[in-house]
Amino acid sequence: MRALQWTGPETVEVRDIPVPDIGRGDLLIRVGAAGVCHSDLTLVNFPVRLREDPLTLGHEVAGTIEAVGADVTGREIGERGVVYLFWTCGVCRECVSGNENVCIAAGRTAMPTTPGLTIEGGMAEYVRIPATSFVPIGDLDFLQAAPVADAALTAYHAIRGAKEQLRPGGTAVAIGIGGLGHVALQILHAISGVRVIAVDVAQEKLDLAADCGADVGILSDNTAAQQILDMTGGRGADAVFDFVGLDATAKLAVESVAPNGAYRMVGIGGGAPEITAGPAGGPGWPWGASVRKSLGGTRRDLFDCVALAQAGKLHMEVERFDLGDGPEALQRLDKGQIRGRAVLVP
Ligand code: NAD
Ligand code: ZN
Repeated sequence: MRALQWTGPETVEVRDIPVPDIGRGDLLIRVGAAGVCHSDLTLVNFPVRLREDPLTLGHEVAGTIEAVGADVTGREIGERGVVYLFWTCGVCRECVSGNENVCIAAGRTAMPTTPGLTIEGGMAEYVRIPATSFVPIGDLDFLQAAPVADAALTAYHAIRGAKEQLRPGGTAVAIGIGGLGHVALQILHAISGVRVIAVDVAQEKLDLAADCGADVGILSDNTAAQQILDMTGGRGADAVFDFVGLDATAKLAVESVAPNGAYRMVGIGGGAPEITAGPAGGPGWPWGASVRKSLGGTRRDLFDCVALAQAGKLHMEVERFDLGDGPEALQRLDKGQIRGRAVLVP
């Protein structure tokens, strides 16, 4: 089968590899579509070789069950679904509390086992998955469904974790209107009554933001924080979701979040927010605000996101590529040239 593989620093290639074998608790999925996430780029551009063997990319996967492991019950060949991206132990205190994204087995700061990032993923004709990670999607289109598995899931989890701050009449800011950000705007619209300010460096991304329900769009520059303060009576935004995570956006979040507000770091650009103790005054970190470094979402969050998509409340803006054009899709994402999400079709 064809698979898009990371074969070394800054190198991805389409290679011909065997269809994976499945174990007794697994499913073999015939991939219908696989989304291209900025995290794929971060991995591919990582300067250090993390493992010797090539790795099949793809952690945002939708497809059809092709084969069912001997011990699996309740699943049938031909069912359509998306793949929950964290393959966790399922039995630790966090997993049984519904916090699979922080499974104890994964360690304190590492990622849980994730297809396409730590184990073979779904940018291929077939992928092996644990049966417990399959979430049915009914007749939802694969191009629409694939980005639900991470872009929607991760945005939804960050937003759900700030629900105390997201009250009607309030204001939320979304920084970075790419794959995650354009879905976040729609989730905010669907589940809260807040006004939404979108921030990006590119005007065409602000145009996309307007199509996704943003009330205001502002360019990300050194006046952005003051513009947000001006729009909120000097108070700041009740929640700021940073889908970029660079120093510049961390600074913007710190300077534009309200007292008791929520700052959610989702982008993994390595930015270091200056959160200081002491009486600040000036533009610094306000009283009562909270910060969370948000990872993916839970399995329940994925069911919620599938339901939102099935109800027509989420529309993924998708650019379709053949699997063989995966390297080009990654290059275009790197240059900021993808509107919404690039999705590969094997
Ligand atoms: P993307 O490339 O599709 O979108 C990024 C957007 O940010 C683009 O629209 C770009 O124009 C904009 N941008 C870049 N620099 C900016 C700046 N200084 N100010 C404002 N906007 C800026 O990326 P994506 O796939 O949506 O992923 C977003 C981030 O989230 C990445 O860092 C990715 O690795 C990360 N991510 C994290 C998780 C998690 O669980 N925490 C999950 C998925 C993705
Ligand atoms: Zn991702």
